[in-house]
Amino acid sequence: MYLVGAGPGDPGLLTARGLALIAAADVILYDRLVGEGALDGARADAELLFVGKQGGGDAVPQELTEQLMVARALDGKTVVRLKGGDPFVFGRGGEEALALRAAGVEFEVVPGVTAGVGALAYAGIPVTHRGLSSAVAFVTAQSGSEDAGPGSGSWPDWPALAVFPGTLVFYMGAARLAEIASSLIAHGRAQDEPAAVVQAGTLPAQRTVTGTLATISREAERAEMGAPLLLVAGAVASLAGELSWLPPRPLAGRTVAVTRARAQASALASRLELLGAHVVQAPAIATRVLEADVPELTPYDVVCLTSPNAVSALFERLAASGRDARALAGTLVAVIGAGTAAALAERGVLADVVPERPIAESLVEALAEVPIARVLIARASRAREVLPDALRARGAEVDVLALYETLPEPIAERELARALSADYVTFTSSSTVASFLDAAAPRTLSRTTRIVSIGPATSATLAERGLQAHVEAVRHDIDGVVDALLADAASRDGGPRR
Ligand code: SAH
Repeated sequence: MYLVGAGPGDPGLLTARGLALIAAADVILYDRLVGEGALDGARADAELLFVGKQGGGDAVPQELTEQLMVARALDGKTVVRLKGGDPFVFGRGGEEALALRAAGVEFEVVPGVTAGVGALAYAGIPVTHRGLSSAVAFVTAQSGSEDAGPGSGSWPDWPALAVFPGTLVFYMGAARLAEIASSLIAHGRAQDEPAAVVQAGTLPAQRTVTGTLATISREAERAEMGAPLLLVAGAVASLAGELSWLPPRPLAGRTVAVTRARAQASALASRLELLGAHVVQAPAIATRVLEADVPELTPYDVVCLTSPNAVSALFERLAASGRDARALAGTLVAVIGAGTAAALAERGVLADVVPERPIAESLVEALAEVPIARVLIARASRAREVLPDALRARGAEVDVLALYETLPEPIAERELARALSADYVTFTSSSTVASFLDAAAPRTLSRTTRIVSIGPATSATLAERGLQAHVEAVRHDIDGVVDALLADAASRDGGPRR
């Protein structure tokens, strides 16, 4: 049984340990404040149980949550209890740990970045700062029973908080901003002390307002700030403007589905995430290296590699027969584009021929002046015949070496449902189109979903399936896809739908 902190919202702030446990869990019990992306790494067959408060409605009672945890753990399941921020900071993680101990269940606690530190950092507010603040207090704004400290009835202890010599960070105070500020002032805290309110820190909806204790609640009200938010009082709040660092996030609030094979998806996914998108990974295909025997390469004038996958498969198969990069010595190496050249460079080989546009027709052109008697084309088992046909037409002896195949990959229902209703879905090859739509059938993409295609071949496959690409990349690579999507988002800026 693992009590795991999910951090303040940005999935990138989950710890490595937390991610590993989420990926391994049979059962995950999670709260509302757990960022949407945090569960992406869960197993498709994991049991996901929501145990938080829904809107203004009732929370799953704490006792029931604890009973569920204990029952699943005693069943021998690997159970993750995932909580926003840090489990031991206003998270009732301590109570849950006590319940586990009482039931004789072993547990591990995985700390998380608490909102009072993480959300404020994203707003450019350091909780301590030399010369400004030498102490920080994390305070619950809730009075009464559950989260209150000693002497429950009289929490918050305004006289003590007013004289605290450092930064005050209030959690759970969204509904009581005016009361907090005025109580602090009434008990002697300076009216003009800098203050800030940070809403949904680290999440796409993050916003910050600043002011003083006297003005902050009015400012927050005017900006319609709502939970989850933090109120910070202290000189450090005045740094929020100067230290604001979060780059503009043009895709904030938009959901983008990525359908390419999981092994290749991360570069695209992380670029989209940096731009603020919420990425749904719905890999529709997987690649499998074939048991191909790579012939002696020296007799060939040219070896053509038509994808980064072909490069990795070639080196895997060379290694299987005790060879390495030297097998390419003395042969001209031509690649389809910059991505394939980069994959090759990682293995210590610089491509001799790289066409400007990463398509077979451009490679044919780039090879026009190269004398070729024998050529080897290393590629996927199923591919267009443009390159071999063109080279044969000019009299070359062409051998095609099928190094890998792409196979349809089952998509977990959760990801599929989210992909079908995403703001954007990206297709980076014809095979992802076919496999994705087959996996979804009889359902299809929602009518509001914008379809992004990497290029004409992929768009043609979409058309065959009765769908029209709304956006087609000008450059037929990942950068081109991102650029096209950004341009589309900017041109349609009535803002995101959510
Ligand atoms: N265990 C959590 C806190 C849970 S209490 C942690 O360590 O962060 C819930 C309160 O946390 C909210 O009412 C709000 O005050 C604060 N909070 C959580 N996530 C937040 C976020 N992304 N931005 C601002 N405040 C947040």
